[in-house]
Amino acid sequence: SLTLGIVGLPNVGKSTLFNALTNNDVLAANYPFATIEPNVGIVPLPDPRLDKLAEVFGSEKTVPAVVSFVDIAGIVKGASEGAGLGNKFLANIREANAICQVIRVFDDPDVVHVDGVVNPLSDIETINTELILADLQTLEKAIPRLEKEARTRKEARPTLDAATAAKDILDSGKTLFAAGTDVTLLRELSLLTTKPFLYVFNADESVLTDDNRVAELARMVAPADAVFLDAKVESELLELDEESTRELLESVGQTEPGLNALARAGFHTLGLQTYLTAGPKESRAWTIPQGATAPQAAGVIHTDFERGFIKAEVVSYDDLVEAGSMAAAKSAGKVRIEGKDYVMSDGDVVEFRHS
Ligand code: GDP
Repeated sequence: SLTLGIVGLPNVGKSTLFNALTNNDVLAANYPFATIEPNVGIVPLPDPRLDKLAEVFGSEKTVPAVVSFVDIAGIVKGASEGAGLGNKFLANIREANAICQVIRVFDDPDVVHVDGVVNPLSDIETINTELILADLQTLEKAIPRLEKEARTRKEARPTLDAATAAKDILDSGKTLFAAGTDVTLLRELSLLTTKPFLYVFNADESVLTDDNRVAELARMVAPADAVFLDAKVESELLELDEESTRELLESVGQTEPGLNALARAGFHTLGLQTYLTAGPKESRAWTIPQGATAPQAAGVIHTDFERGFIKAEVVSYDDLVEAGSMAAAKSAGKVRIEGKDYVMSDGDVVEFRHS
C-alpha cells in the first residue's frame, strides 16, 4: 500500500504527531492479524457515509479506508552529503510515495528551534535543498553513463535528454514535482523530488485561530495540501471522551481532530479515492487509485474478482440513501450495470459479479 514519509527538522513535533498517529485502534479493530512495523502509523480516513450505509443495510460493523504514514529518521542539513543517518534518511524517503513535511509554527521558548527562530519558509527550503542536492548527485552520476549509451544506441537519447532537462530544473532550485517534469523515462533513478508533498503546520492556538495567518501559510505551499494542527493537542485527544474532545478542540479553534484533516490530505496527496460496499456483515470503504476501472476496483477486494470480472452493479451513495434501500434504488432505476471500462467515481456503492 502507498505511504507518506514524515520528515521535518528536529524539534518541530514529528514524534509528537507520530505518537498521535500510532495511538489509535483502527488496525486492532479491523485487521487483528496484521503486523505493523514500529515506524508506521495508520489513521482511518473519516467517512460519515459508512455509518449511514450501516444503518441502511443493518451492517454489523463499518470498515474505513486507512492512510499509512512512515516515520523517517530526522533530516539534518547536509543529509545529501551522505553521512550515516543522511543515507538512511534518503533511502527511507525513496521508499515513500509522498512526503509529509512537519513544519513548526508554534512558539515555545522551552523548545529550541535548530535554526534559532521559527521560520516556516526556511524550513521548507532546507528540506527541498537536501532533496534537490541528492537528486543532482544521482543525475550527475547517471548522465555520463547515459551519454555513453546514447552514442552507441540512439534509442537511449530521449532518456539522456530527460536527465539533462531534469538536472537544469534542479539547478534552478525547483523540485521536479513542482516543475511538473515528465519523469517517465527516469523512473529507474528513483528521484526524490518527483514525489508530491503535503505540509503539516504544527501550530498553537494563536495561529490556528488566525484565519489570515492560516491562509497565508496555505498560499505559501499551494498547490500542495496544507494541514494545520497542534500535535500536542492531537496526542492528548486520544485519551479523551467525545465531550472533552470537542471542548479541547474548541479551545484551540478547531471543529474536528487535525488527524481527520491529515488523513484526507494524505489520501488526496497520494492520488487515492474510495468506493463503498455494503451488506449485513459490514459497510466498507475500499482504496483505489484515482481513475481506477471497475475490474481494478474489484481486484482490491480479491485478485480473483479482477480476473473473473463480469460486471459491476453501481449506485451512487446519494441516490441509494435517498431511495432508502437497495431494492428501492433498483426499482427507481438508480442502479446501473457497468462493464470493464467503467471508471470508478468517489461515492459509488458497488456489488461486483464475477466468475
Ligand atoms: P521532533 O524532533 O520533530 O520529533 O519533535 P518532538 O515531537 O520530539 O517535539 C519537540 C518538543 O516540542 C517536545 O518537547 C514536544 O513536547 C514539543 N512540541 C511538539 N509539538 C508541540 C506543539 O504543538 N506545541 C508546543 N508548545 N510544543 C510542542
